[in-house]
Amino acid sequence: MRESVTVSTDPSSTPSTVPSAVPSTVAPPFPDDLLARAVVDLSAVRDNVRALAGHAPGAAVMAVVKADGYGHGMLPVARAALAGGATWLGTAVPAEALALRAGGVTPGDARVLTWLAAPGAPFGRLVAAGVDVGVAAPWALAEVAAGARAAGETARVHLKVDTGLGRNGIMPADLPDVVRRAAALEAEGVLRVVGVMSHLACADEPGHPSVALQAEAFDDAVRTVERAGASLEVRHLANSAAVLTAPRLHYDLVRPGIAVYGHSPVPQLGAPGDYGLRGAMTLQARLATVKDVPAGHGVSYGHHYTTPRDTRLGVVPLGYADGIQRHASGGSLGVGGPVGTGAGGTARVLRVAGRVCMDQFVLDLGPGAAERAGDVVTLFGASDGVDRGAVVPNAEDWARAAGTISYEIVTGIGARAPRVYAGLDAGLYTGMDESSEDRKEVQR
Ligand SMILES: *Cc1c(COP(=O)(O)O)cnc(C)c1O
Repeated sequence: MRESVTVSTDPSSTPSTVPSAVPSTVAPPFPDDLLARAVVDLSAVRDNVRALAGHAPGAAVMAVVKADGYGHGMLPVARAALAGGATWLGTAVPAEALALRAGGVTPGDARVLTWLAAPGAPFGRLVAAGVDVGVAAPWALAEVAAGARAAGETARVHLKVDTGLGRNGIMPADLPDVVRRAAALEAEGVLRVVGVMSHLACADEPGHPSVALQAEAFDDAVRTVERAGASLEVRHLANSAAVLTAPRLHYDLVRPGIAVYGHSPVPQLGAPGDYGLRGAMTLQARLATVKDVPAGHGVSYGHHYTTPRDTRLGVVPLGYADGIQRHASGGSLGVGGPVGTGAGGTARVLRVAGRVCMDQFVLDLGPGAAERAGDVVTLFGASDGVDRGAVVPNAEDWARAAGTISYEIVTGIGARAPRVYAGLDAGLYTGMDESSEDRKEVQR
């Protein structure tokens, strides 16, 4: 009865290939002893990947699941992405790629690529586990070769070129030498260059001159590698923004991350729904306290909000230690992060009153508000945003309130809000009783 948020999925779209597919239409019950949770709708992840594949019909899809699946839980998200048609999984660091393999994602299920390593990285274990490795600096080639020799297998290498991002990647000037050394190792059977990749600096600003320049530099790099005799399986450059806005950059493989989780990589151009996406994570909390205070009462540290009238306050037990950005404080400090509360006729969006603290923040519910302690409020969920009239905010709304991006919002949600899985094959992650046909959950 206190539950007001629905995680909706389309049961008819559940593919037959998904084991124990569950036509989940509602979030699992919110246990009384839980203060907060992040419901992750795996059907949304699957559907988002399908939508992205539709945006890039000529390319294969690598779902990027780094940073614990952008905070959603890497393994469940990886499975859901594969159910949606992804054939590759992308991770940043080696430990993530190894965790996918250890978690049961076999080379037959998906190719896995890792692209961020430092000298000393476990290249031997990666090669033995059937993980493709990105070589993003000249030093890495010798280490990958040593790892492959130790593993007794041929390493699959993607040369990561800095075409202008100015971050990790082989500088074009260094590429000919790297390619020469790679060709020698390839002749030896130690490794095979299967991919050339790069990453865009300004894909979220379509039309930025750097995008076209990077594409040119990428084409040059591909030519350099191919002239040395490599037979490339995949050339890949596109992140989420490029998948949605730059078809010319799709090449053989696209690497969407944030869009897999249902957030717009170009919020200034379109909301998730405009691209056929919906947010996978719904962050909820129970009001810890609801109480009446008189007009003129200071609220939270520093008294940056003062009640304008006799009113009723609600305390939300999530704070910056849980990833609720302190920059999303309200009152005199800013617009304040938005929270959906109430149900039916009382449903409305309120803004953080005063400071976000480590563990909690406050809402001014208004005089005589119907909320009671224990009621569930929703910080963000599947929605196109409050400026589109939604009564459930989305992660982008919080990003805007905090002066950041939706990526930082979803990756920052801490462990005190356990991930609870809904939809699709959520039952796979429970190991618990699966007697309920339409409600399955797990807490990590
Ligand atoms: C994180 C990352 C991506 C995904 O970027 P999004 O903007 O989340 O789509 C793709 N490629 C590389 C190399 C990355 O580091």
